[in-house]
Amino acid sequence: MNSKRLKKIDKSFIWHPFTQMADWLKEEPLIIEEGKGAWVKDIDGKWYIDGVSSLWVNIHGHRHPAIDKAVKDQLGKIAHSTMLGLSNVPATILAEKLIKIVPKGLAKVFYSDSGSEAVEIALKIAFQYSQQVKMTNDKCQMTNKIPMTNVKKKTKFLTLVNAYHGDTIGSVSVGGIDLFHKMYKPMLFKAFKAPTPYCYRCPFKLDRKVCKMRCLKEVENIMKKHHKEIAAMIVEPLVQAAAGILVYPKGYLSGIRKLCTKYNILMIVDEVAMGFGRTGKMFACDHENVRPDIMCVAKGITGGYLPVAATLTTQRIFDAFLGEHEQHRTFYHGHTYTGNPLGCAAANASIDLFNKERTLARLQPKIKLLAKKLKEFERLDHVGDIRQCGFLAGIEIVKNKRTKEEFPAVEKIGMKVIMEARKHGLIIRPLGNVIVIMPPLCISEKDLNKMMDIVYFSVKKVTRQEGGRKR
Ligand SMILES: *Cc1c(COP(=O)(O)O)cnc(C)c1O
Repeated sequence: MNSKRLKKIDKSFIWHPFTQMADWLKEEPLIIEEGKGAWVKDIDGKWYIDGVSSLWVNIHGHRHPAIDKAVKDQLGKIAHSTMLGLSNVPATILAEKLIKIVPKGLAKVFYSDSGSEAVEIALKIAFQYSQQVKMTNDKCQMTNKIPMTNVKKKTKFLTLVNAYHGDTIGSVSVGGIDLFHKMYKPMLFKAFKAPTPYCYRCPFKLDRKVCKMRCLKEVENIMKKHHKEIAAMIVEPLVQAAAGILVYPKGYLSGIRKLCTKYNILMIVDEVAMGFGRTGKMFACDHENVRPDIMCVAKGITGGYLPVAATLTTQRIFDAFLGEHEQHRTFYHGHTYTGNPLGCAAANASIDLFNKERTLARLQPKIKLLAKKLKEFERLDHVGDIRQCGFLAGIEIVKNKRTKEEFPAVEKIGMKVIMEARKHGLIIRPLGNVIVIMPPLCISEKDLNKMMDIVYFSVKKVTRQEGGRKR
């Protein structure tokens, strides 16, 4: 089918996610037909660096021979079979692989198909656990050291301001980005919200360490007052990515872990964006030796090939769901394509590659190079904060560098920058006025240099025009 016709069909029939379709319909759609390594090609034959890792999922590159082969081999066996009442080979192998690499204490894997679902499941498990754990306490006091009273009242959740955990109703309920979430408020359940250490725009201009202590104090105040009602606290580890790459001060995550333990609140860590190497370690939790009670993984799990997600829990949580059939302690939840064999085969190959290709070791110099390239942006007139954590970064475009005054949203400054970058062969996506740097972990130093030069040039060009016009 020719390129013109494909574009016409797209505009006629597709409703794109997170997209103002009125804008989309005015533009030429960019349609991808091929990929190779850190690059993708559109239907007109133009190649681009995949600077968003196909929305934060790609790790080892497109068309990696090992993952291609794993999926093809699996196709020669079976494409799908259900996990409801049956099991399959790749999902079984993957469960063991995951347990080996995730933080200690996590013992069971519950599969689903997207990050939102993994979060939804985590919330439901935490809720049901809290309803059922008392029975477990009575039954097996040996394994449950903390006797809990009134657990049935533990029906609420604690989350952070600016949080993003996905787009389904449960995950939106624990979200905190007004732009995405406000509209649905009447549909949502209420959650307690603690402040994020938003040091970049701290109204008190506090030092990061002080800011951290203050925020942890806030978390503790809420817990102290409401711990009898709170089943779990959910956090994105190290970085709130969707909020604009907001990096916590060191020790914030482990501080939350300590508080959750102290107040007998389950800790759910949403590793959907950070898991599988993005921060420079396999999981963000590893930076602060945090052991969550429940962990959600998705995006990078298959190396960016197929939709697979998982919610991992401790043995203790799992045990609270055991019982006689008629006790109805079963976790009544399951998505049809859960544990899909093709997806799990891709995930197995992707996890093996971390060893075979020493992915994390080879990433370290690229993290340093990224830091060096980001440094260059400091001299640009309209660049505010630059935030990096491992192999992701956010470059904030501001109207006034000194006061950090932002460009008004109507100027779509972030959008203009990425459209300029696109002309030069780079695909990136902004979060408001923040330019997100999220290349596949496999990108070469040469391509990373090229990518950052394109971003630099595009920011400079667009802000010079816009900044100039406004003054
Ligand atoms: C992307 C993301 C989700 C949602 O994952 P989907 O697969 O898009 O449903 C949840 N949490 C975090 C932290 C994410 O970045």
